[in-house]
Amino acid sequence: TSTPPLPLDAGALRDWPLPALSDDADKEARGQLLVVAGSREIPGAALLAATAALRMGAGKLVIATGESVATGLALAMPEARVIGLPETPAGGFRLDGIERLEASLEGANAILVGPGMMETAATAAFARGLLPLLAGRRLVLDAAAMDAAMAGPFPEPVLLTPHAGEMAHLTGAGKQAVLADPATAAWEAARRWNAVVAVKGAATVLATPDGRCWRHEGGNCGLATSGSGDTLAGAIAGLCARGATLEQACAWGVVLHAQAGDRLAARRGAVGYLAREIPDAMLEALNAIA
Ligand code: AMP
Ligand code: MG
Repeated sequence: TSTPPLPLDAGALRDWPLPALSDDADKEARGQLLVVAGSREIPGAALLAATAALRMGAGKLVIATGESVATGLALAMPEARVIGLPETPAGGFRLDGIERLEASLEGANAILVGPGMMETAATAAFARGLLPLLAGRRLVLDAAAMDAAMAGPFPEPVLLTPHAGEMAHLTGAGKQAVLADPATAAWEAARRWNAVVAVKGAATVLATPDGRCWRHEGGNCGLATSGSGDTLAGAIAGLCARGATLEQACAWGVVLHAQAGDRLAARRGAVGYLAREIPDAMLEALNAIA
C-alpha cells in the first residue's frame, strides 16, 4: 500500500531549490519549450499556457497550434514562433503534422501537449505519436492529450495533470471515488501508467511511478475558472524547460499557482479574477520564494 503523502507547501519548495540559472545563459540555455495547444474553438488555451511558461523563466518558446488559428495566435503572442498544424474536420491535429515539429522537437528540453485541443481521439494519437521522439525530453500532457494514457503505460515517465473528472474518465472510476481518495487514485495511476500524476482540486495530490507522493492544500475557489488549469500546465512545462524534473516542476507549479490565486483574491476578491492574470501573480510568488 502507499505511504502517506508528504506535505507540499512553500517550505517544501525552499528545501527543493530549482536548478540555478547561469548569469551568462542565452535563451537556448535558459530552456526551450514546445507547446502543442489551442484549436479553432479554444486558441486562448495556448496563449495562457505559453504565457505562464515564459513567466516561470523558460528561455525560448515555440507554439504549435491549428493552422486555422496560427496567425491570430502569433499576433497575440509576439514572443513565440508559431507553427500551424493541419487539422482534422473535427478540429483535432492530423498525425502527419508531427513532421512539421521535427526542428522544434530537436531543440526542446520540454514539451507540453493538450491545453485547448479538440477531438480527444486525434489529440491522444498526436501525443502518442510524439513519444518515440522524446529522447529524454520532459513531456507534460494535459486535458485531452491525457487520453494517451489509455493506450497503455508510457515507455518513459511523462506528467499528467487531471482534475477529478478527467481522472474518473481515464480510470473508469467514479468522480466521487476520486474526490474521496485522490491520493490512492494518483498513486495507483502513477504506477499503472508509468507517469507522474497530479490529481488537481481544492487539494492536489502528486504521485510518482516509484511511489513518492505529496499533498498540497491551498489556493481558493477563484482558481476554479476557465483557463486556470492551462496556466498551471504551462507553468509546469516552463519549469521543466528550465531544468526541473517532472515532479519538481509539478510541485513548484502547484504551490505557485495556489499562491497566485491567493495574491489575486487578496487584491480583487475571492472570485472573478481571470486565468490570464494568474501567470503574473505566479511570477511574484516565485520571486517571493526564490
Ligand atoms: P482545470 O480544472 O484544469 O482548469 O484546473 C483548475 C485548477 O484550479 C487546478 O490547478 C485546481 O487545483 C485549481 N482549483 C480548482 N478549484 C480550486 C479550489 N476550490 N481551491 C483551490 N484550487 C482550486
Ligand atoms: Mg484543464
